[in-house]
Amino acid sequence: MALRTLTLSTSWGDILLKGGSRAGEGTLLVLPQFRLALDIGRPHRILPPVTTACLSHGHVDHLGGLAYWAGQRFLHSMGPAILCVPESIVDDISELMAIHARLEGGKPYDTVFKSVSDGAIHPLRKDFNLEFFTTDHWVPTLGSRLHWTRRRLLPSLAGAEPAELAELRKSGTPITSDVVTPLLAYGADTGPGLFADDRALDAEILLLECSFWKDGDLERARTYGHLHISDLVELAPRLSCQHLVLLHASRRTRLHEVEQIMAAELAPVFQGNLHHMMIEWE
Ligand SMILES: [Zn+2]
Ligand SMILES: [Zn+2]
Repeated sequence: MALRTLTLSTSWGDILLKGGSRAGEGTLLVLPQFRLALDIGRPHRILPPVTTACLSHGHVDHLGGLAYWAGQRFLHSMGPAILCVPESIVDDISELMAIHARLEGGKPYDTVFKSVSDGAIHPLRKDFNLEFFTTDHWVPTLGSRLHWTRRRLLPSLAGAEPAELAELRKSGTPITSDVVTPLLAYGADTGPGLFADDRALDAEILLLECSFWKDGDLERARTYGHLHISDLVELAPRLSCQHLVLLHASRRTRLHEVEQIMAAELAPVFQGNLHHMMIEWE
C-alpha cells in the first residue's frame, strides 16, 4: 500500500508529510524535508535517509520499523542517526536494538539513543528544534512539537540606518530577538487529557490520533487512553490550527466510514483544513 502524502501550507512554507497510520498495525510519519520521523511503526523504503527519529512510546505499532531503519542505515554506511526515546524506556529500547544488531550478525547499529522527557528540547538544525510533551495514554508517552526560530530586528529599530545598527551591535546592545513559531505538533497516542495543555494545540499543523469513531466505542477509548471522534467534535471550536491531520483509526472502522464520519461530524465544526493519514496496511 502506498503511503499517503500531504503538502501542508505554513508560515514557513509547504511542509511535506508522508506516512500511514492504523491503531495496532502501525503509525509511520516522515517529514522528508527535515529527514525526520515521528514514530516508525513499520518498515518502509522511505526510512533510510531519516537522520532523526522520535519514538513516542513502547507499543509495537509505533516501533515496528526501528530495527529496519537502523539496520538499513548501517548496511549502507549512511552514518550515525539519532533516536529520541522517552526516558522511562530508553534502556529497554537500546537493549532491543542491540539484540536486533546481534541477530543480524554485525556490529551495533550506528544509532545514538537520546533520552527525552516532558519539556526537553532537541536541536534539529540551526533554525528548527523539537520539544517533547507528555500525553494522556495508558503507558508513558511523549508527543512532539516542531518549532521554527527566526532572528528578527527589534521593532523599535525598524527604519534605523545600517551604520546605527552596526554601532549598537559593536557596543553590545541587542538589536534582534528570536521569533519562535510552532509549525507542527504530533499528539501521539493520547486521551483527551492532552487538551489541558496548550503546548499540544497551538501549532499550525496538528496531528492527532482518533482511534474510535462509533458511538458504542467511547468507553473503549477511555479505557485504553485514546481519542473518540466525539472528543474532537468537542475540541474543534478551540482549535486555531490551519491543518488538522487525523491518525490511528482502529480497524473497527473502515476507511470509507472514517471519511464519511469526518465529513459529517467534524468538518462542520472545524474552521481549518481537515486531513487524515489513515491507510490500509496490507
Ligand atoms: Zn498506537
Ligand atoms: Zn499506544
